[in-house]
Amino acid sequence: MPDIIELLPDHIANQIAAGEVIQRPASAVKELLENAIDAGATYIHLIIKDAGKELIQVNDNGKGMSPTDARLSFERHATSKIRSIEDLFQIYTMGFRGEALASIAAVAQVELKTKTEEDELGTYIFIENSTVKIQEPCQAATGTSLSIKNLFYNVPARRNFLKSNTAETRHILEEFSRVALAFPEISFKFTNNNTDVFNVEGGKLKQRILSLLGNHLQPKLVPVNESTDFVSIHGFIASPEAATKTRGNQFFFVNNRFIKNAYLNYAVSQAYKELIGKDEFPLFVLFIQIEPKRVDINVHPTKQEIKFEEDRIIYSVVNSAVKHALSKYSIAPSLDFSLDSTIESLQAVTQPFAKNIQEKTKANYLFQSFGEKGKAHFLEKKGDAQQWKELYKVQHAFQLQGDQETQAEPVATSQLENANLNLQKDTFKQEFVQLHQGYIIATTKTGCLLINQHLAHQRILYERYEQVISNQITIQRCLIPITFELAPADAVLLESILDELKLLGYDVEVFGNHTFIIQGTPADVKLGSEKESMEKIIEAYKHEQSEVKLDKREKLFRMMAMQRAISSTKKLATEEMEELFQQLLLCEQPQLSPNGKKIFAKLSVNNFMQLIQHA
Ligand code: ADP
Ligand code: MG
Repeated sequence: MPDIIELLPDHIANQIAAGEVIQRPASAVKELLENAIDAGATYIHLIIKDAGKELIQVNDNGKGMSPTDARLSFERHATSKIRSIEDLFQIYTMGFRGEALASIAAVAQVELKTKTEEDELGTYIFIENSTVKIQEPCQAATGTSLSIKNLFYNVPARRNFLKSNTAETRHILEEFSRVALAFPEISFKFTNNNTDVFNVEGGKLKQRILSLLGNHLQPKLVPVNESTDFVSIHGFIASPEAATKTRGNQFFFVNNRFIKNAYLNYAVSQAYKELIGKDEFPLFVLFIQIEPKRVDINVHPTKQEIKFEEDRIIYSVVNSAVKHALSKYSIAPSLDFSLDSTIESLQAVTQPFAKNIQEKTKANYLFQSFGEKGKAHFLEKKGDAQQWKELYKVQHAFQLQGDQETQAEPVATSQLENANLNLQKDTFKQEFVQLHQGYIIATTKTGCLLINQHLAHQRILYERYEQVISNQITIQRCLIPITFELAPADAVLLESILDELKLLGYDVEVFGNHTFIIQGTPADVKLGSEKESMEKIIEAYKHEQSEVKLDKREKLFRMMAMQRAISSTKKLATEEMEELFQQLLLCEQPQLSPNGKKIFAKLSVNNFMQLIQHA
């Protein structure tokens, strides 16, 4: 039998390889835009003609290339971005494979004009079929201009496979938007068939989102900002009513690279769960920053799928960041205590404004985000009008257009502008009523809140436990230490949480052979019920189920809060309700219980009126 294996000619090998990187005009657009970004450009101009089939051109003002680099850049695996295999785990550039230009040169006619800052003259190169046809010095500005003409002219099968101009242009727009969103500080221009479609100045992310996704989102964007040692997340989500029936406006960027990850999308939708319909998709533009070595983007050159080393952690960070942002947003119009005596009656106002409370308040996100309505009671009474105004601005940023609350704003504004702001004048008196099954009605100026007392107390306790970590809790010593024995499995469990329990005021020691000894408990555990209290904790800890694996402490806090919160059958005196209410207001997250249940609902007078009219 004759030998039948032959090496493929270079240009065919290149064309085949190119198929992986450049599937359609939009893929070429993406590669060129990313190269411009990697080159440090602050201005990038994308020009296309005939949906990119005739021309795709990207001009940038980046660092440009020397004549040698210009020539080398078209070689396969020619890259300036990695030098060793270790570099692969520290990638901060968009590209690193050195394949894009080689691939493009295999399937189109390419013109490159580039010049570095140091060079007098630039370099012009013309390539066809992977062969350099012209290379010569030329006049050029610092930066790079790369034109791709007649994409797939030599691969008719691919060219015929392209979709309609409308469809291909849409793909290009999509790529452009992703890149432009990821780099709001860079100015971008996009010219399609001689018409400027976009011309956006470098600036803030919010502005960029509005320019690209529509100014109508202006009042609907809610900032997200959360960071842990491990991962940080920032960006914007839109309020629920901006949700759409299609997935269109969902953007995740990991280290500024656009990615698709169904799991993360799910983390966001779950946070919106009851706020949007089942068939709706929330709008978001979220950036996850994480050490490059913790993600694997090395799956495929053009794939946007991504693998995280610890995706459950990322999931829960994303989920809670969005929940947090949403609750901040939605509470702004819901706890509408304007500058009135509601606030006056609160203990926090009648008591001196101590330094430590001031500190706490500043750290509290109610303070940081809601503006004067939500936090008027945190301020000294004689705050001057300017101060109110400042706060008002913050508040205003969170207001929804078309929201009923907004219509009440002008009044508040004029109040604010009145330097003789007189809190006393208002005769509104807040009242509390307890309903059956553990609900409290608290009247507000424009309606009332219906509060679940058990959940409210859970939240209060939970945040208290969280704080305990920083301020040692007082332990009540047992006069006679109490010993108790546990089943082996339970003993193992208890042993594993002893340190955490200590922080919460339970001083428990191992006494050998599945036996423990209680030396002390938190001050509010009743004498004689120490053991019972312990057992309840273990029982609950065992059964605490959660879709995401929580850390030990978090789990314990939630569980303890659940265990120890007042029951829904407990009858409360007015003062107790008031106290509960005040403490809830001071919580960082007054909206949701530690397990994410809604603590209260708000009914406005308008709601009542509607109810009555409907009846
Ligand atoms: P990669 O981006 O993966 O390195 P490319 O094929 O996209 O591979 O580009 C090859 C090299 O050409 C890059 O590493 C870079 O050094 C250079 N290059 C490409 N585009 C530009 C540009 N717009 N400005 C400056 N250098 C560029
Ligand atoms: Mg590249």
